[in-house]
Amino acid sequence: MTVSIRCADFNNDCPAQFTAPDQDELLQHVELHTRSAHQPMEWTPELAEVVKTHVKQV
Ligand SMILES: [Zn+2]
Repeated sequence: MTVSIRCADFNNDCPAQFTAPDQDELLQHVELHTRSAHQPMEWTPELAEVVKTHVKQV
């Protein structure tokens, strides 16, 4: 199974998209990206839950 997500799904004007073999790894990519590219946005468990609702299987 491969999963993907686009940063633009979260109303960010951002071209980043991520693909990973499972949701946990995908979330790690999104977390790193959020911390590095979208400060001062904070990575929280609540945000992780929101991100999960946008994950697509590809
Ligand atoms: Zn982004």
